[in-house]
Amino acid sequence: MTDIKKTLITSALPYINGIKHLGNLAGSLLPADIHARYRRQTRDDVLFICATDEHGTPAELAAAEAGLPIAVYCAQQHGIQADIYRRLGISFDHFGRSSSPQNRALTQHFFKSLDDRGFIEERTLKQVYSLDDGRFLPDRYIVGTCPHCESDRARGDQCENCSRLLEPTDLIRPRSAVSGGTNLEVRPTKHLFLRQQALVSALETWLASRKGWPHLVTSIARKWLDEGIQDRCITRDLAWGVPVPKEGFEGKVFYVWFDAPIEYIAATQEWADADPENRDWKKWWWQADDIEYLQFLGKDNVPFHTVSFPCTLLGSGEPWKTVDVIKGVSWLTYEGQKFSTSQHRGVFLDQALDLLPADYWRWWLAANAPEGSDAAFSFERFAAGVNNDLADTFGNLVNRVLKFVIAKYDGVVPAAGKTGELEHSLAAELTQHLANLKSHQEERSLRKAADEVRAIWSVANAYLVSGAPWSHVIKEPDRAAIVVRTSVNLVALAATVAWPFIPATAERVLEALGSNSEPSWPSSAAEALALIEGGRRIDVPPTRRNGSKPTGRSLPEWNTRRLVYSRMSPHNQALSIDPRRAEVESEGLVADFEFAASPSFLFVAPYESRGRTIRGRTLVGAAVASKRHSPPHAISAIMRELNVESSDHRSNRRGHELVDNCWICFGQERPSQQRPQPSWRESSQERKA
Ligand SMILES: [Zn+2]
Repeated sequence: MTDIKKTLITSALPYINGIKHLGNLAGSLLPADIHARYRRQTRDDVLFICATDEHGTPAELAAAEAGLPIAVYCAQQHGIQADIYRRLGISFDHFGRSSSPQNRALTQHFFKSLDDRGFIEERTLKQVYSLDDGRFLPDRYIVGTCPHCESDRARGDQCENCSRLLEPTDLIRPRSAVSGGTNLEVRPTKHLFLRQQALVSALETWLASRKGWPHLVTSIARKWLDEGIQDRCITRDLAWGVPVPKEGFEGKVFYVWFDAPIEYIAATQEWADADPENRDWKKWWWQADDIEYLQFLGKDNVPFHTVSFPCTLLGSGEPWKTVDVIKGVSWLTYEGQKFSTSQHRGVFLDQALDLLPADYWRWWLAANAPEGSDAAFSFERFAAGVNNDLADTFGNLVNRVLKFVIAKYDGVVPAAGKTGELEHSLAAELTQHLANLKSHQEERSLRKAADEVRAIWSVANAYLVSGAPWSHVIKEPDRAAIVVRTSVNLVALAATVAWPFIPATAERVLEALGSNSEPSWPSSAAEALALIEGGRRIDVPPTRRNGSKPTGRSLPEWNTRRLVYSRMSPHNQALSIDPRRAEVESEGLVADFEFAASPSFLFVAPYESRGRTIRGRTLVGAAVASKRHSPPHAISAIMRELNVESSDHRSNRRGHELVDNCWICFGQERPSQQRPQPSWRESSQERKA
């Protein structure tokens, strides 16, 4: 065995404020996790680090709104996010917090190094003071019209529409995003600047030495350099943040963008401090030339990771590890629009987990990753992708093979038979696919890797069909035995290659086969096909409940959960009951209607009733958000929309039965939260670190 490769992986830091949506998952967390898992499969020494980004005005304002001290608020929010990522199977080695003492010390250290080397400059700025709010406003809390594209939702730091960087004074018709007040005046205030212009040549040299970056990332970095890098103000007039350790700057803190990326290092210190005997953070960051460092982030974060953070590291003059490869991705769109936290548009991660197992989302988002260009999420595409890949291809393989072993061989893998021509050509075919998959994984090409995983599943299904053990089991028992044994190994291989994408599912399958549930990368196709030997007892993977009723048969969940998609029509009028009337009729219904205010989409689970099947093999069962509590007339309304036989849902009893046995999910709008004038939330929630 050659030297073990050491791989440091970081995912962009999710901002502390609020639960993230599928777009955030697809943008950095999931690609980073899939790559970390793959590297662990190949037995690299992997360290996967992330953290919540906790400083800045959005957190400050949200805490005030929640009536909590900011530290308490951040601790709560961190806990919520950490739990969600755990349930999504994101396998961080450490999920830290940028408000940690480690980050405070390290941020101040970087500042002092930069200051000592002459890269910090004091300037008096004219900054916008809001008389209505009684405070200086951070740039992003001044909104107005963009001078370049005339979008009326430009912020003082950047235009969301055309992405150009702005100064607040560039804005036409500026106003406070906190209060909407237009009583703004420009006042002088002292700030510290990082002299990025003095670091341009160091930055150019550094960038030129980076290899293997996706075009998207290089082109964004190039654009910034070509347009001319500006010195960056790194302090703010705020209370919440890392204090500036310099005379005359008491009461000011560092700009959140200065301290957030430093948290990558500080979080590694947090990780090491939890087990100092066995962990050494310096190994990963200090004179760490033997480490390969990979960053995963969305395209809006590219400038800060290709320019700002490298300026901090290079300017310090110290031997810090800098990133080797940045994997940047584009955006996921939701039903033709942007995911938006402020407008409650999209699927949020807590909702996603309530609806379906994490692996469904993981698989689809990886197989449709927004690499190179934006990718479109729609429930229709999601349902089709999940059904085709997880149910019809992977699930089908697992079910056919394992059920056959249980039915015909009493659950014991048959030992008889020798490999023949069919198995040899299968091995040859798989060798090629495994090589392709390895290369796509190493290039961090999620879509191509998912395509290759799917191809391996298909090859396995095709082999099973050609081998047709069911036709040989009586007359040619040896032939049937080798096909079945090979197929059992194919199931294991299918789960092994899928493990980085759908870890929980893969682990259940591998456990059912009595194999290692954290599988290493197969050394060869031939070996993988002979790993499980005759005589081993296997089982069928357990069905896992996730918010819906199992159908009662002991089948793997992906096969019982084929998603059926229906578009309600006409658009957005599916629930034709007037919400105001509903409010009068039933208090319980109000919440439901709020949740499903524009329910244009739904999933329907399969429903079979007393030996007869209605509406093909699928009957629509329905429930609004709080399934069981929906009054029958709400269910009737949904049934009508779906053209279900009225006799099937007329009675209350029947309606409840439907609700108990089936479930749906609306393409929901998130229930609106308490804030009356939420214009500033846009910027607070959309920012990422
Ligand atoms: Zn603009």
